[in-house]
Amino acid sequence: MSGFLKLLFRNRLAAVGAVVLGTILVLVLITPLLPLKDPNVTDTANKFIPPFTEGHLLGTDHLGRDQLSRLLHGTRLSLAVGLAAAVIAATLGSAVGIIAGYFGGRTDNVIMRGVDMLMAFPYILLALAIVAALGPGLLNALIAVAAVNIPFFARNIRGITVSLAGREFIDAARLAGKGHTRIILTELLPNVLPTIVIAMSTTVGWMILETAGLSFLGLGSQPPVADLGSMLGKGRDSLITDPHTSIVPGVMIFLIVMSVNLLGDGVRDALDPRLKSGALSRPRAMTAVNRKGPVPETDDKGLLNIQNLETQFHVGPRVYRAVNDVSLHVKPGECLGVIGESGSGKSVTALSVMGLVASPPGVITGGAVRYAGEDLLGASYKSLRTKRGENVAYIFQDPLSTLHPLYRVGDQLAEAIQCHHKISDAKARARSLELLRAVRIPNAESRLRDYPHEMSGGMRQRVGIAMAMANDPDVIIADEPTTALDVTVQAQILALLDDLRRERGLAIVFITHDFGVVAQLTDRVAVMYAGQIVEQGRTEEVLSRPLHPYTRRLIACVPELGGGRRRLEAIPGLPPMVDKLPRGCAFAARCDKAQDSCRAAPIALSRDGDRAVRCLFPEEALRKDAS
Ligand code: ADP
Ligand code: MG
Repeated sequence: MSGFLKLLFRNRLAAVGAVVLGTILVLVLITPLLPLKDPNVTDTANKFIPPFTEGHLLGTDHLGRDQLSRLLHGTRLSLAVGLAAAVIAATLGSAVGIIAGYFGGRTDNVIMRGVDMLMAFPYILLALAIVAALGPGLLNALIAVAAVNIPFFARNIRGITVSLAGREFIDAARLAGKGHTRIILTELLPNVLPTIVIAMSTTVGWMILETAGLSFLGLGSQPPVADLGSMLGKGRDSLITDPHTSIVPGVMIFLIVMSVNLLGDGVRDALDPRLKSGALSRPRAMTAVNRKGPVPETDDKGLLNIQNLETQFHVGPRVYRAVNDVSLHVKPGECLGVIGESGSGKSVTALSVMGLVASPPGVITGGAVRYAGEDLLGASYKSLRTKRGENVAYIFQDPLSTLHPLYRVGDQLAEAIQCHHKISDAKARARSLELLRAVRIPNAESRLRDYPHEMSGGMRQRVGIAMAMANDPDVIIADEPTTALDVTVQAQILALLDDLRRERGLAIVFITHDFGVVAQLTDRVAVMYAGQIVEQGRTEEVLSRPLHPYTRRLIACVPELGGGRRRLEAIPGLPPMVDKLPRGCAFAARCDKAQDSCRAAPIALSRDGDRAVRCLFPEEALRKDAS
């Protein structure tokens, strides 16, 4: 809640709106306690007294009634009616929308056609018709305003409900045996509530105006009781001779509606879940870099050289240390594996390379990323942009979410090429075809015209690889590209990547959580745990002679085909949260060899050539004894 208020008040205009509206609300709440004259007592001897006269701060109206008193009482009434109408319209409209969207089919059809009919009338005519049928009066005006706004809420909420109702978590709730009412109340409602609040906050002002409009026409509050609309209506008769009678309620309506709208916009921005985790801004085009320490000297290890990288997420007061002191390098024609449990910082490391971590909340706080010797973290956005895809390309896990659903695959490939090279459409097309053939898609010619949803998972991943290859990059970073695929397709994709690297001398960084894949494809492997590299070395050495207890236990978790029956030992416990990392070894809590010294201080990475391990009591001796 305090986070919401902070976010809200960062928006200056919303803060102004909140202050103005707050003042008005306090004033009307304490109105009965103020030493005001009776708003309805007439005194025709003193009519049309101008404002700022002794005893009548805002003057009097055509019947000599005190304007200040009438204004405050009238505002009280107008606000109450406007708010009540908004709450009623939001409740009924949302209920109708949720029911229509959730049940769908005929229910949806019947309800929404009814709503459409209501929407077919200009709303003020509809309100007039309702008041005409019910008779004038403030309560009837309230009913009319609420009724004409129900369709607005119903439409909005139905749209959101329809998209939510098809989602897996609703299916899961149904499978769990929950009834319709409970699904609606516990699964759907919490998800649409923010939208309801937003829609309400942006329409309250408009409903106050509509109520005032009906009263202005004489259909709302009846004399002698005043609301803002009826005061304005009466003031109109003496607009020229005594303008203060209409200016006073007019200014009040203006203040209320302006402040409600400013505040409503602010609430909408602050409640938007996409903006919650960061500041009130879209992610920047590249990750923010704020290096505390000195930039590491270049050590010319590989084509892509990550040195002591440190990436964090700053969310409010919390600091998530997702990547700490990670150093990796790949040479042309080499494949480096990065392995680790989910949440160990593999993706964040990969995305940091080309400045693709969303900022805010992501910040790179230390280290260097060198491509062919140039430090990418210090590079300008322009230079980074020309390198994205052209020199370093990515393959992601789920190609269905990275391919545009509305464009044909061929057009998307051509776009990726033309983004970096000014070539004709025909040439780009020919190149796309060549790419699809290179990733061994059968009938490449006709597949160019397919939409992503017309392809199978394996086929889409091939398109993802083709897209990464589009501009002949030197480095490909593949972030779990085969995790969503079945084993046979996975084997084909791995073979394809292996061929590409041999044929074209590509450097590949292959991220996975599967040791089987590491063994098949990679030359060297780095094991990550809680944002750090805990072990690194040549693949066959790490697999046959793991040094870190974590690596050993990870390997012990892999079942072997034909290896006979053996107990698979899961690693007990969970990785630590990266916003509460322990002082010493992050694995100590789950490690059976941990001593007090492991927990006392950060453990350094000890190196011996290619081999590195971050452990005080490595497995080496143990394995030798065992063999
Ligand atoms: P993985 O190894 O599975 O690819 P990630 O690199 O995606 O893991 O995530 C590393 C850590 O960073 C995780 O613990 C995750 O909770 C944290 N993290 C990722 N994105 C954010 C974010 N936007 N805000 C806060 N923490 C994040
Ligand atoms: Mg990941």
